[in-house]
Amino acid sequence: MQNRTLYLLTIQDTATTALPRKRVWIHARTHPNEVQGTWVTNQIIAQLLGTSQMARQLRSGCVFNILPMINPDGVELQRARENADNIDIESNWTAVPGEPEVQTLRAMFVNLMSLPNPIRIALNMHSAYGTDRYFVYHTATGTTAGYAAVEQRFINAVRSYFPGGIRPYDFFASWTSAPSQVYPESWFWKNCGESVLALTYEDMNDASAHAFDSTANAILRGIADELGISGSTNVPAGQERPATFALEQNFPNPFNPVTTIGFRSPGNGLLNPEPGTQNPGLDPRNPEPETRDQITGTLHVKLSVYDLLGREVAVLVDEPKEPGTYNVPFSAWGLSSGMYVYRLSAGRYAQTRTMLLVK
Ligand SMILES: [Zn+2]
Repeated sequence: MQNRTLYLLTIQDTATTALPRKRVWIHARTHPNEVQGTWVTNQIIAQLLGTSQMARQLRSGCVFNILPMINPDGVELQRARENADNIDIESNWTAVPGEPEVQTLRAMFVNLMSLPNPIRIALNMHSAYGTDRYFVYHTATGTTAGYAAVEQRFINAVRSYFPGGIRPYDFFASWTSAPSQVYPESWFWKNCGESVLALTYEDMNDASAHAFDSTANAILRGIADELGISGSTNVPAGQERPATFALEQNFPNPFNPVTTIGFRSPGNGLLNPEPGTQNPGLDPRNPEPETRDQITGTLHVKLSVYDLLGREVAVLVDEPKEPGTYNVPFSAWGLSSGMYVYRLSAGRYAQTRTMLLVK
């Protein structure tokens, strides 16, 4: 290693009171010769700092953490894919955990995921050898049907803002079975499950690469749609569709005796139920009525608290819920100090977390 500084940009409008802001993570330039991923990232930064309505709404509704160059040593040394230690830090999260770039990213992820507003979308910016722009998606067998559908929805949204510019969602698959933590995205999948939409974006790594501004704009509009930021779609407040199913860490934790548990329910449908199909005459922002009905369908949600012997000590939610974000208070009067487990189930989704009561 050569100890060059890693710079982290945080972009948000702290003058607004719309808290907590939805967190977006972007890092770029893992691979030194993939300069186009940096150029798209630079455009994302420039547009986020601009005066457009989209930029203003993204800055007030979101916080962007952007690490534009994770491998400056490799760039300075003109490596192709490696850092100063000749390690490809993209695909070696497990094999070389001691590399400073890997340690830095991991520490950032762990820290940001522990916040009350953890990362919702994480993008890993690259460029591949060719003349295509695409996202590296994850199959339902390698993740879950729900997660794959959210990836598809996000990619379709981005594509709708740059028609013809970005390949369909299923152009290039990453892991197709349960992964180890080889990539940043697989770290997110293994540690955070469906709560983080983590994707690699690949720009064109070719002399014909162009339209970095259009690409950046489409990505930002896709993020706005996915997070229910009204800049691009004018979705009324409170009616935005949630990114995905998620059970959040209770806050505060440890607690005594009251805490709050946040979760997101996905509702009973998906934006594009037919994978890969899109009617070219259809405005993707105004899907057909039956699709819209599915998006707003309720889903039965149950949120329970268990002690470490598996006994259900509280039922906090047990009813159909519209898609959306919910915060449920939990009061542990009458319970003794110790670790408790809380579990959220909704249709085919389920997630469990632990919390610590200290009296
Ligand atoms: Zn790459």
